[in-house]
Amino acid sequence: MLVSSDCTYHIISLGCSKNLVDSERINGLMDSSGFKRAESSDEADIVIINTCGFIKSAKEESIDVILDELNGSGERHIVVTGCLTERYKDEITRDMPEIDMVYGVLDDHFLAELGKNLHIRINRTPEDVSRIPLFDSLPYAYIKISEGCSHNCNYCSIPLIRGRHNSYHPDLVLDDAKRAVAGGAIELIIIAQDITAYRWGDEGLPWLINRISEIDGVRWIRLLYCHPDHITDDIIDLVRNNRKIVRYLDIPFQHVSGRILQSMGRKGNFEVYHDLVKRIRGRIPEVRIRSTFMLGYPGETEEDFGMVLDFLQKAKLDRVGGFVYSREENTGAYALKGQVPEKIKKRRYREFMELQGRISTEKLVMMIGSEVDVIIEEKVDETTFLGRSEFDAPEVDGIFFLTSGRDIDKIIVRAKVTGAVDYDLMGELA
Ligand code: SF4
Repeated sequence: MLVSSDCTYHIISLGCSKNLVDSERINGLMDSSGFKRAESSDEADIVIINTCGFIKSAKEESIDVILDELNGSGERHIVVTGCLTERYKDEITRDMPEIDMVYGVLDDHFLAELGKNLHIRINRTPEDVSRIPLFDSLPYAYIKISEGCSHNCNYCSIPLIRGRHNSYHPDLVLDDAKRAVAGGAIELIIIAQDITAYRWGDEGLPWLINRISEIDGVRWIRLLYCHPDHITDDIIDLVRNNRKIVRYLDIPFQHVSGRILQSMGRKGNFEVYHDLVKRIRGRIPEVRIRSTFMLGYPGETEEDFGMVLDFLQKAKLDRVGGFVYSREENTGAYALKGQVPEKIKKRRYREFMELQGRISTEKLVMMIGSEVDVIIEEKVDETTFLGRSEFDAPEVDGIFFLTSGRDIDKIIVRAKVTGAVDYDLMGELA
């Protein structure tokens, strides 16, 4: 029988930042059990694919990656875990018998099951296992503060996959944050399905974030995924008063037509959400607001879609993402009448992105000549660095191309904006 110290592994992490945190936990578990990390899946004895199963395109990508790895060279064990397998475990086990282990979402039994399924004796029982970054040279880390969601939006499969909302113990969150900072992170990015839902006893999100901000070495804290129906004045004041929190809020509105939002199982409407944007900007004038919108939800008329475009024009949000509705089995919206044809969904998506592209360019051009703080993520050559301004989140927002005569890698610098192209900025040290 093989022992874990004889085996190498490689993790492929798909989907969102919340899944990445799980992949990093698996990385920590494997490392502390004696397994050796391989740089690529070709060199590994065990390939662990942490899948996404949120919408159709994400499921397709996960299946493509699994097929690629199954068809890859050499004798490798393929382990598939994550949201796709949590949702379709029976179907995947039946249709892809070549997979060595089909596991759902990560839990305490993962490692023992891996040993049992792959006939590997685990060398050490890990104690006090922390997650280990998959990409270890980054100056930021995602900190997940809860699992699951209890909102039950009618289009969303997350509650089916991840269960009801469950806030993590604050000591666990703080410990995770401290380890991330000790590992070199200077920006902590707070994530969950909805971070506003965090509760511990009588305390909520502001209390937790203020405690995280007391950790020595934390320079920036970024709040992602704030449900618009649950943003209280306390949360707005938290961002306003705690200067370690960057002037950036991510608020996925999803839609602005009251009729569509009601059908989605959400509460807002055009006026309520526009007022919220105005209220936040009134209290934090420098704030940048990011949002996402879903296009082509069942029953969405041209008038409903027009309201979304009108909202973009009026609210002039700073960063916006869009995606087309994906009809997901076992969700409330699956059986709704008025499913929008794919062609119309795509046309609406195109119009939406074109409009927001123009708004984004206008807003970025207005920044030319101003000074911003920039976190440097990568040194391209002796004088060129890639980073992000305080007003941009990794992976979803723009890049800052910075020219500097001195080495500034992995630190936060003050920079002057000298140009803007599409969603990106460029500049030099201030
Ligand atoms: S709040 Fe977000 S994660 Fe929760 S059900 Fe709604 S869309 Fe899904």
